[in-house]
Amino acid sequence: MLRPRNVDEVAAALTFARDQDVPLAVRSGGHGISGRSTNDGGIVIDVSQLSAIEVLSEEKRLVRVEAGARWKDVAAALAPHGWALSSGDYGGVGVGGLATAGGIGWLAREHGLTIDRMRAAELVLADGSRIRADAEENADLFWAVRGAGANFGVVTAFEFEVDQVGMVGFGQFVLDASDGATLLERWGAAMEAAPRDVTTNLIMGPPRRGRALAQIYGVVDSAEPDTIIERFTPIAGVAPLLDQQVQLVPYEGVMNVPDAPHDGQGEPAVRSGLIDHLTPEFAAAAARLISSGTVYFFQVRSVGGAVSDVPPDATAYSHRAASFSVVAFGGSKALLDRAWDELAPHFRGLYLSFETDQRPERLGEAWPPATLARLRELKRRYDPDNVFRDNFNII
Ligand SMILES: Cc1cc2nc3c(=O)[nH]c(=O)nc-3n(C[C@H](O)[C@H](O)[C@H](O)COP(=O)(O)OP(=O)(O)OC[C@H]3O[C@@H](n4cnc5c(N)ncnc54)[C@H](O)[C@@H]3O)c2cc1C
Repeated sequence: MLRPRNVDEVAAALTFARDQDVPLAVRSGGHGISGRSTNDGGIVIDVSQLSAIEVLSEEKRLVRVEAGARWKDVAAALAPHGWALSSGDYGGVGVGGLATAGGIGWLAREHGLTIDRMRAAELVLADGSRIRADAEENADLFWAVRGAGANFGVVTAFEFEVDQVGMVGFGQFVLDASDGATLLERWGAAMEAAPRDVTTNLIMGPPRRGRALAQIYGVVDSAEPDTIIERFTPIAGVAPLLDQQVQLVPYEGVMNVPDAPHDGQGEPAVRSGLIDHLTPEFAAAAARLISSGTVYFFQVRSVGGAVSDVPPDATAYSHRAASFSVVAFGGSKALLDRAWDELAPHFRGLYLSFETDQRPERLGEAWPPATLARLRELKRRYDPDNVFRDNFNII
């Protein structure tokens, strides 16, 4: 494990790693679900010591964040300015892994993905050169970093234009999921009809003690209790409501989770799918899968809204038409893969941060053909020796 303390040391670590004939992984927060930021007998370049967060322009709300910071630290640093950056639902996740893949967060429908607020990235490339990528300089790499960053270099820092966000409504609801298919379909329809200031996620699992339950968590970007209640009411009403809690909290409070050590070990079997709408056919198939016991955690996150405003070719995250990101955790990889194959026709693609399967077909699901072709051309140009291959290797 190499833990560089500055960009020069990142470049030196990379030069050293390239000289060894062993696997190379890059790690920021160590929170990668697929366990790709660790390896067996190889080298890990861990940039967690590069974690500074700095305001570059108050007026433009421009912030520079080093890759090793965690999202809860970013939220805490932005809060005194009345700002936030949508970055995920868990503050313990590292900046580097999430901001090179997409970033589906609590403010996604209103402010887009984390990468949509990115204005520049600083990288150490495979040949050791240090570059800045933005809309004018190295624009092709800037495009690639936003959705396929892990293939192109070690990102040491990002610049983001953040949003004005103060107090938000954070809601947690428990619903009766005896009719799981109807619940899924209704929640999907309620989310698609909802104003953009609300983003919620739905969690389901196999029945416990004979009872099927669903949990909905979400944020309304408003400090007005009436607006918060108005937004949550149709969403919490998609099935019989058993318990509820709604709080008015700073966005920073939602992201402030207890510290838990993460060393990139990942999860045993997680599959991902991006889907445009929760159709009756998908809802029925998903409900059958959930009640089968093959998955112990099934989550649907809202995307859509501002995420879908961005043209599919504007960044390497191209599945812009998807309104939902679906994730399933299973105890058995074989059983989960078989079940996921059956659901596959419903999906338009996958989100690489939530996928553990390493079969080559997954590449074409992460990136549609035109995106993948452009990524392959850039990969040949910027990483001809395939140094960066730990995560959805573009070959
Ligand atoms: C509990 C939990 C909740 C999550 N919630 C969300 C969520 O709400 N929304 C969402 O979008 N994602 C979410 N994720 C997924 C998360 O975005 C990814 O797992 C992400 O890769 C984690 O970032 P990290 O830096 O902590 O990971 P790491 O394990 O450090 O890295 C993961 C991979 O990212 C790449 N990478 C890391 N750092 C760099 C770098 N500096 N330069 C280039 N490539 C790099 C590497 O390929 C590495 O293998 C969640 C994950 C967990 C475990």
